[in-house]
Amino acid sequence: MALGNCYPKLDLRDEQVRREQYENAARFRAKWRRVIFGFLGTFALFFIGGELVRPDQEEWLVLAIFLVIFATVISMLFYKCPKCGTVPSGVAYSVTANTASYSKGIHPFPKRCAGCGYYLSKRELEKVLKELS
Ligand SMILES: [Zn+2]
Repeated sequence: MALGNCYPKLDLRDEQVRREQYENAARFRAKWRRVIFGFLGTFALFFIGGELVRPDQEEWLVLAIFLVIFATVISMLFYKCPKCGTVPSGVAYSVTANTASYSKGIHPFPKRCAGCGYYLSKRELEKVLKELS
């Protein structure tokens, strides 16, 4: 992945810019958490729920799984940069014997927004700030 240097420039020495980065990362993290919990909840219901629920109660389990999947899909619709609305995407390469292809997908751990360059990861932001100082 060679996306490192193509972000729009941000002046992290500017305190206002820095504060906006922290806000953006925090807001993105809240969205991110909802998606992850949705996936974990779906898996938990699927594997644990199936063991615990009595056969005559299974329709409730199916309903619960449906609701969690629905909530996850909704939260994925909001999985965007809080600043500009760009969906964090990554590029995946695959090479087989006679084809080479790449596909774009949603990035699960984005560091920065490819659209506006704002930070989506507080850890990444702090790392860069440390390098600056
Ligand atoms: Zn953005």
